[in-house]
Amino acid sequence: MQCSFVIPGDVVGSAEEFVTGDGTYLKGRSIRSLTTGITEIDQKNRSANVVSKANILPELSVGDVVVGQITNMRDKMAIVALAFKKGYESRPIPRTEALIYVSNIRNTYVKDINQLFGPRDIVKAKIIKEHPLDLSTKDEDLGVIKAYCSRCATALRLVDGKLECPDCGNVETRKLSTDYGLGMIR
Ligand code: ZN
Repeated sequence: MQCSFVIPGDVVGSAEEFVTGDGTYLKGRSIRSLTTGITEIDQKNRSANVVSKANILPELSVGDVVVGQITNMRDKMAIVALAFKKGYESRPIPRTEALIYVSNIRNTYVKDINQLFGPRDIVKAKIIKEHPLDLSTKDEDLGVIKAYCSRCATALRLVDGKLECPDCGNVETRKLSTDYGLGMIR
């Protein structure tokens, strides 16, 4: 059974196939939704669940930490396609862009934004303004968590405090998060 959007009262599955899980109830021989959300079948215990919509689209507010990919670089800003909010890693943010102005990258003066960010880098950042979304990477744990070689696009490795390309040997600089290369969000 595929995931589908349901409203309260909609049939999620039949009692022959599944047991009721979160956000569902049994009526006659059918399992129905208690809430507005997305159906989710737990194959292990054969339960039919509905994850409420409020949980699927996490609200983005000032102070939230988000992860996204840099899609575009300008002289004074980087444009980031948001992927998810910290704590809601399994619920991707749909098509949302945010900006990191050069003055919000780090606490000290930035001469050239290209020394701190690169296209396709994955960044962890904090929301400092809504409508439109502005991000900051000034804190130690914020910044680039994965970077790619500007010559050959291989993921850069952090060796003795230097970002090196394991393929072509290119050395680059970034505003790094202390989480760089850990492959997880802390
Ligand atoms: Zn390279």
